[in-house]
Amino acid sequence: MSKEYRVKCRKLDAKGRGIVSFNNASFSVPYLIEGETALISLQHKPGNTTAKLVSVEEKAAERIKPECPYFYECGGCDLQHMSYKKQLQVKKAWIEDLFKEKHPVEDVIGMDSPYHYRNKIHQTLSKDRKGNIISGIYEEESHRVIDAKQCLIQETCADSIMESIKKIMKAQRIEPYDEDRRRGVLRHVLIKYGYHTKQVMVVLVSGNDIFPGKKNFVSALLKAHPEITTVVLNTNTRKTSMVLGDKQSVVYGTGRIEDVLCGYTFSISPKSFYQVNPLQTERLYEAAIASANLTGKETVLDAYSGIGTISLIVSKNAKSVTGVEINKDAVADAKENAKKNGVKNVNFICEDASMYMMKQAEKGIRPDVAFIDPPRSGCDERFLTSIVRLKPSRLVYISCNPETQKRDVDFLLEKGYKITKVQPVDMFPFTKHVENIVSLCYE
Ligand code: SAH
Repeated sequence: MSKEYRVKCRKLDAKGRGIVSFNNASFSVPYLIEGETALISLQHKPGNTTAKLVSVEEKAAERIKPECPYFYECGGCDLQHMSYKKQLQVKKAWIEDLFKEKHPVEDVIGMDSPYHYRNKIHQTLSKDRKGNIISGIYEEESHRVIDAKQCLIQETCADSIMESIKKIMKAQRIEPYDEDRRRGVLRHVLIKYGYHTKQVMVVLVSGNDIFPGKKNFVSALLKAHPEITTVVLNTNTRKTSMVLGDKQSVVYGTGRIEDVLCGYTFSISPKSFYQVNPLQTERLYEAAIASANLTGKETVLDAYSGIGTISLIVSKNAKSVTGVEINKDAVADAKENAKKNGVKNVNFICEDASMYMMKQAEKGIRPDVAFIDPPRSGCDERFLTSIVRLKPSRLVYISCNPETQKRDVDFLLEKGYKITKVQPVDMFPFTKHVENIVSLCYE
């Protein structure tokens, strides 16, 4: 038995883990809450010592029993051991740590009911030791799939669709793909759900060029789940952590689903980005758009525009909107979405946002307002330098990674921008993640 240490936790780190200090070292302990006294043990690996919670001796008032039986194993959620109110406080404290020296931080916009919000569900297929087919997500840093039959944060239709897929695989002898031996067929399943339209897309990702009896497989699936509106077969034979491969064919339906956000209808394809929490996305966009104080006369840039959601929703408050996005599927979706909604004052460009901005800066074409919503890595210096050259009078920077957002905002502050509002939004209840809007102006 490894040695146990009694510790008192005084603070949480950015990921909601309890920080403890002893023996001149400090450790982040998963599942420990500030104020708690607990026993922990240390795991020594070459160059790295990690701390593990053994038992909590004095519990914090905010500690609750996780509702999900897989919580401690699965790793998909991080904060189920604390009340939802506390989760929101933890997320606000993180944003405050990053931004409060520059500007006060608003309370996090939370959900009334923070369950079953995820509209995009990714499951990996595997086998357990007894040879039963299982599905779930990978345990952290391994190829071991955690077999979860239910998930508290995913749209509920996914649980029963996955159960049926496993039954059909067994009946039709379709093997799950084995990542290590690189054998078998069904590798992943991706389910996308239209919250308002109730449309369901199932993407079957095969690790093999041949999916034997795919027609029978799909008809059995549709028979069991008439709610499925489209099925796509994707092939991904590469050794990669990416879920989808390049080859794709529509087996049933249109290969797309629709959803409605802020009164606009959006068509979504398997590969294009769409926010995963539809109710909170509306709160996020409302807050972002409100902070831009548009009058209807402005030219607007929507950088990293995805399928054009912000562009279309903001179009009624702007003179014109240009969306820039690198993924060609997403740009095709965005163009179709503009047509579908009869919006005429938007246009979409398929290009790297930095390249586009550099060209605009060369030409001196300045948007009045820019919405910036980059991937987790944030913006690069070429993008920010071009923004600073053009100086849109308002910027609304939306991010799912507050650390890179702070780096980028610091750059903008140095060049004369001022923060007008910092508004976090909880798009990912029970996880450590938080979305954050920083609004800036240049006078
Ligand atoms: N604003 C959209 C999408 C945000 S996600 C929404 O709210 O739905 C970020 C988007 O940036 C993705 O669609 C991704 O494909 C795109 N992207 C990533 N790198 C890019 C780059 N260098 N230039 C332009 N777009 C990029």
